[in-house]
Amino acid sequence: MLVLLLAKMKEDNATMYRTIVIGTGPAGLTAAIYLARANLNPLVIEGPEPGGQLTTTTEVENFPGFPEGIMGPELMDNMRKQAERFGAEFKTGWVNSIDLSNRPFKLSVEGLGDIEAESIIISTGASAKLLGIENEKESIGHGVSTCATCDGFFFRGKKIIVVGGGDSAMEEANFLTRFATDVKLVHRRSELRASKIMQDRARENAKVSWGLNKTPIAVISGDRGVTGLKVLDNETGAEEVIETDGIFVAIGHRPNTGFLAGQITTDETGYIIVKPGTSLTNVEGVFACGDVQDSKYRQAITAAGSGCMAALDCEKFLDGHMVHDWSQSL
Ligand code: NAP
Repeated sequence: MLVLLLAKMKEDNATMYRTIVIGTGPAGLTAAIYLARANLNPLVIEGPEPGGQLTTTTEVENFPGFPEGIMGPELMDNMRKQAERFGAEFKTGWVNSIDLSNRPFKLSVEGLGDIEAESIIISTGASAKLLGIENEKESIGHGVSTCATCDGFFFRGKKIIVVGGGDSAMEEANFLTRFATDVKLVHRRSELRASKIMQDRARENAKVSWGLNKTPIAVISGDRGVTGLKVLDNETGAEEVIETDGIFVAIGHRPNTGFLAGQITTDETGYIIVKPGTSLTNVEGVFACGDVQDSKYRQAITAAGSGCMAALDCEKFLDGHMVHDWSQSL
């Protein structure tokens, strides 16, 4: 605790850290474990979805080391405890703005105030995408959801539509058959994007039906919430309403990079571009890991691996690059 307190220095009313990790998915937590074990006393800023996407999933079957699988929230909780054990400090906050023009970097964090850091690891992940159709946003929490594990329970004995053709849609559809009487997978093409194993599981599930080649155009609601999804049949060109009690949108995610206000180079869809084979961004001292810089693999294990890379890159950078004199802090 004393080391922790000493590691933070007051300067211009801003608390200063050697390194700050923004985001607490598998990437951020793995980075935190490595940084803490390197005695860098990282501050880990937890946003509104602590633990990231894995906390909204059920069983994780493909994270090495868990032959029987492990529940997503439990896996994330374990990683957090592991980081805390080595001295990582966790605080809840929302990064409103960030100034990367000079080191130490300056952050304005809602809930925490002004903070300065010698280095930053960005692991803010990605958030669920919406379809952008009529009455969709208004219906969130009233029959439209992006999280089956969070909201599936409310649809016991009801009919559900899952929109999407990827692994997420297959997984959510299968999961939701625990509660719903019928789960219809609505996808805009006739071919699915999902991996074969996930497709097969959905196809073999007697409660799953299919609405392929149909593009959603509007959410239909009544007094008691969602009653249907209006779709365009891409084969016939006809519009139809598929009756349902709930709609789960599972069409992928968008990287959480808006708060960087263009200071870090991203691709056209917002994913941070890192120097190949590293976690280095275009700004010296700022590193990125996890889904925020990975539009391709997006797995918990690849995120965790990239978190390790970011911590090691950061550690190497700080060695000899400190702006502040930390000699009194150890
Ligand atoms: P994804 O693979 O990008 O699939 C998104 C799906 O949504 C696609 O079928 C896409 O249609 C559809 N879509 C996108 N925008 C749409 C729109 N505006 N209107 C209608 N449909 C739209 O995303 P994901 O399923 O979330 O998977 C992301 C990554 O995580 C993948 O690498 C996946 O393998 C992985 N993942 C793995 C597991 C697992 O192994 N257990 C579980 C979940 C996710 P098109 O096909 O026409 O583009």
